Amino acid sequence: MPVEPRPAVASLAGYPWEESSAAIAARLGIDVEQVVRFDMNTVPWQLPVPVSADGLQLNEYPDTFYRELTDAIAAYLDRPAASIVVGAGGDELISLVAQAYLDGVRTCAIADPTYSLFAICSRIAGARVDAVPCTDGYALDRARFLDGASRAHVTWLANPNNPTGELLPQDYVREVAAAAAGLVVVDEAYAEFVDTTALAWLDEAPNVVVLRTLSKAFGLAGLRIGYVTAHPDIVGTLNTVRPVSSISAVAARAGATALKQAPHMRELVRGHIAERHRLAAALAAQGCAVIEGEANFVLARLDAAALDRARSRGLVLRTYGSGHRLDGWSRITVRAPEENARLLDAIHDTTG
Ligand code: PMP
Repeated sequence: MPVEPRPAVASLAGYPWEESSAAIAARLGIDVEQVVRFDMNTVPWQLPVPVSADGLQLNEYPDTFYRELTDAIAAYLDRPAASIVVGAGGDELISLVAQAYLDGVRTCAIADPTYSLFAICSRIAGARVDAVPCTDGYALDRARFLDGASRAHVTWLANPNNPTGELLPQDYVREVAAAAAGLVVVDEAYAEFVDTTALAWLDEAPNVVVLRTLSKAFGLAGLRIGYVTAHPDIVGTLNTVRPVSSISAVAARAGATALKQAPHMRELVRGHIAERHRLAAALAAQGCAVIEGEANFVLARLDAAALDRARSRGLVLRTYGSGHRLDGWSRITVRAPEENARLLDAIHDTTG
């Protein structure tokens, strides 16, 4: 007889994992270099970092507190190292928050749509998910969200939001923190693309966790490094549930080196935002409805033929199934200018 997982897990649809670039290339009969990921919200650069084991003792486990990496994050944020927990990507930290703060009798609040892992990790923990539908203009319904937060043990809020790119003012985020019945996770995965952050008032909010990642503006999604910063009590709780060594010593060293290149990262981000403006304007000029947002992606309504042309050329977009609030929209990650030009060509080209 098959062994059944816990009911919370058995009933879960799970995250729809993206097809790999190699599999897409094989299916289309094209070179893998022709495949461009417009679906991952990554950036087209990678900060130069060491990914060798030189000088590291790989026969030993990594420093249990990843001191070098944590200190580099502390310096980057200008926050105490004791207020930081690092994880194998922001995703691991989302999962740890859910494990620590949710269970079968607790509720979490999320926006709909938002980053899908909030609901998945919460459901795995057994929690009920109170999803607050966005307005007709794809904005957060702020009043209803405040209400949801006032009844939730964990409130998940991505700012800017994925997939809408909406940036909420800090005054509102503070209001959520004050109204919330429990923990508020402010997911700032895309923080480097905007100029506001909850870090400015975090010390006055003992129930707020700010989550960040090196996967976006630092261009190191393959490294798998994320971190949170919060009140020491929350840090203590997360340290009791986190795996001891989920980040390799090689990745921790590389991450610490990347953080020291923040000025270079900021320069790349500035150019990238200009490229986002160009891409959004070019899509609008082709007659598509566009929501530019404040992160490193835009939403556009592409017709089925344009989508097919893009896909057949290895240009991978994130689309949403029927029943999803963004049905009919494509989320398009801003890529390098020549890659964006390939996409615009594919959308525009009516010759097939
Ligand atoms: N939060 C948001 C809003 C995201 O979009 C992502 C990545 N898509 C993450 C967290 C997690 O990223 P990572 O695990 O690569 O740090």
